[in-house]
Amino acid sequence: MQNITYGSRGSSVLLLQLALKRAGYYTAEPDGVFGTRTLNAVRRFQSGAGLVPDGMAGPGTLSEAEPFLLGFRLHRLRAGDTFYRLAKRFGTAADAIASANPSLDPSELPIGAEIVIPLGFRVTPTDVPYSSELCELVVRGLAARYPFIRDETIGRSALGRPLHVLKMGRGKRQVFVNAAHHGNEWITTPLVLDFVESWAGTYASHGTIEGRSAAALYDSVTLYAAPMVDPDGVDIVNGAVSKDGYARALAIAEDFPDIPFPSGWKANADGTDLNLNYPAEWEKARETKFALGFTRPAPRDFVGAAPLSAPESRAVYDFTLSHDLALTLSYHTQGGEIYWRFGDIEPEGARRIAERMADVSGYAVSDVPPASSYAGYRDWFIAEYRRPGFTVEAGRGKNPLPLSQYAELRADNFALIAAAMEG
Ligand SMILES: [Zn+2]
Repeated sequence: MQNITYGSRGSSVLLLQLALKRAGYYTAEPDGVFGTRTLNAVRRFQSGAGLVPDGMAGPGTLSEAEPFLLGFRLHRLRAGDTFYRLAKRFGTAADAIASANPSLDPSELPIGAEIVIPLGFRVTPTDVPYSSELCELVVRGLAARYPFIRDETIGRSALGRPLHVLKMGRGKRQVFVNAAHHGNEWITTPLVLDFVESWAGTYASHGTIEGRSAAALYDSVTLYAAPMVDPDGVDIVNGAVSKDGYARALAIAEDFPDIPFPSGWKANADGTDLNLNYPAEWEKARETKFALGFTRPAPRDFVGAAPLSAPESRAVYDFTLSHDLALTLSYHTQGGEIYWRFGDIEPEGARRIAERMADVSGYAVSDVPPASSYAGYRDWFIAEYRRPGFTVEAGRGKNPLPLSQYAELRADNFALIAAAMEG
């Protein structure tokens, strides 16, 4: 890891600022620019942690900062430790420590054992742009704080980033929610992570989510959540990709000067639009998009060399085949609409569920515009299984949606996801 110092810029600075903010040393909005405010915050943070306050975030400082990104730290039990005392010391709740360490008997804590201390804030940030690294940290944090969440890596992106699926619940009804098939729709990533965290938190505290018992939902549903199907695309859009990755993307984008770069980037790192890469009338999608000039790798709308030619869509496809999914929900961002059928295939119950989701979110139940009717994940799922599969075009306005829309997105879509889980 490189030192982050005064004058540094980019996603590593953003993560540092987020950690400093959560630790109470930085009060501005994280902006990815290491200026005077960040410098002062680093110095104060270093002093507080017993490090030399030189204002340079090197390995020692970064490892002290990491728990504030993961949302937990590890602690080796000592004589006299109780959940209550630890909670006071680390600014968290005794109940949270208990649920993160379900195998421990609080009255007989084994001295020397390493335990997870969840810190006193939510893991999922909703106030900073996402990168694959941030997604990774949140996934690790959620799985550590809530041991009943399983984290599975279902594949790797073109640039080698892991593709995560979080699993929660033990119900017979399997529901799959996926987000960020398109890089510049990354705001759907915190939405899905935030939902999982909210459900996990309410489940651990015997509470309710969207008016439903979190425990009853846990017993009836198994949720699989893929928070970021296109990590490379997200990294390209948010300036978090490697130099090589950026150069590759830029070379592709230069052929399409009308598409803003990087904000218009939807594809994976190879310039394949993942949601046009599934084997559902793929040739028709190819014909439509070729006619529009997308005949080669592009920031969006290139269908790929063949169905499932992209490692990301292949991984999601394989994941789907190896499960028995009752319903899928694919998150995109454009226009507040719910797409529910594929051609004239109308899966049983799909219209009713779409209408319920529309009711609770205020979104419209719509038919897909002909120009994007084929080769999407939902298209393939419906064609293959004849079961309800939905695309939710969340939010309004031009992509990437600003974080200022997040609160509204959350309010509309938590209710929608809960409705989809119930069926
Ligand atoms: Zn999309």
